[in-house]
Amino acid sequence: MATTMKAAILHGREDIRIERVPVPEAEPGELIVRVGAALTCGTDLKVFRRGYHARMIVPPALFGHELAGTVVESGEGVTDFSPGDRVVALNSAPCGQCYFCQRNQENLCDDLLFNNGAYAEFIRIPARIVAKNTLHIPDHVPLEHAALTEPLACAVHGFEDSRPHPGDTVAIIGGGPLGLMMVHVAALAGCEVIAIVKHDGQVEAAQQLGATHIVQTSSVRKAIQQTRALTPKDRGVDIAIEAVGVPEAWQEAVELVRKGGTVNFFGGCAVGTHVTLDTNRIHYSDITLRATFHHTPAICRKALDLIAGGRFQASAFITGHAHLYELNRVFEKLMNRSSEIKTAIVP
Ligand SMILES: [Zn+2]
Ligand SMILES: [Zn+2]
Repeated sequence: MATTMKAAILHGREDIRIERVPVPEAEPGELIVRVGAALTCGTDLKVFRRGYHARMIVPPALFGHELAGTVVESGEGVTDFSPGDRVVALNSAPCGQCYFCQRNQENLCDDLLFNNGAYAEFIRIPARIVAKNTLHIPDHVPLEHAALTEPLACAVHGFEDSRPHPGDTVAIIGGGPLGLMMVHVAALAGCEVIAIVKHDGQVEAAQQLGATHIVQTSSVRKAIQQTRALTPKDRGVDIAIEAVGVPEAWQEAVELVRKGGTVNFFGGCAVGTHVTLDTNRIHYSDITLRATFHHTPAICRKALDLIAGGRFQASAFITGHAHLYELNRVFEKLMNRSSEIKTAIVP
């Protein structure tokens, strides 16, 4: 095996360099995976813009976290995986010991271990992720589809946490990769989906992914009016899911639901952000507020099952392919609000 490889190193704001670095070697419990596909993600785009992510990545550092590939080396003590196995390794794993892990809230683990380095020829998978969050990929599933497991797990988690029933009307604010994934997950679960989006490309994608109605506007007031008008007597939707991560959209979500409805603040806003909400409306209309974050090992397995099941349109989410050395250009394009959903980086 080669001793050096090409890898994307994040040096700071909008500064990714493709460099030659040593190929990692597997320590006990670890795997080395040859990356088959690494997908771009809204989080990576944020990191590219800001130059760091307080919890996930501090530069200079290997970059990228949605990947699938083939095991090339397994460390001492690894029994579930051997060279040649096709795997998806999640971006994180919980400790299993802390207060939250013990209560099945592993997404809130006090010691969540993150892994980065998917934009490279090879990646090291830490022992804890090998043990808890690395999954075998069924033969019929392409690697780039399996790489959707991580974002899809977040969407499935957020959707299930909103306690949906088949036939419910669900409004989803935001047509980014996760908003669209949420649209598809809700449609597959038998809900009537109203997708609230801004751009033309998002309209087509939401339609293809199963939205029953599309509300296209950048006015919050119009979005509320038009969405409510799609429900009997303007009463509002059963569930509203915010998938943008800005305060105005959080406030909008609360105005979309019916009495007794559920709001999920799924999009994380910038640090230090506050919102103002109508307390009377929340109390006297008995509205449930939730804010789902991240995923758990059980949900990750569900997400891969959904991808492998055949009804999930994985290829609709991968709208472009690029080589590792094109990574800067890919992110610049994503910053300019192109209609790309995700680009598969093939090292
Ligand atoms: Zn991601
Ligand atoms: Zn924990």
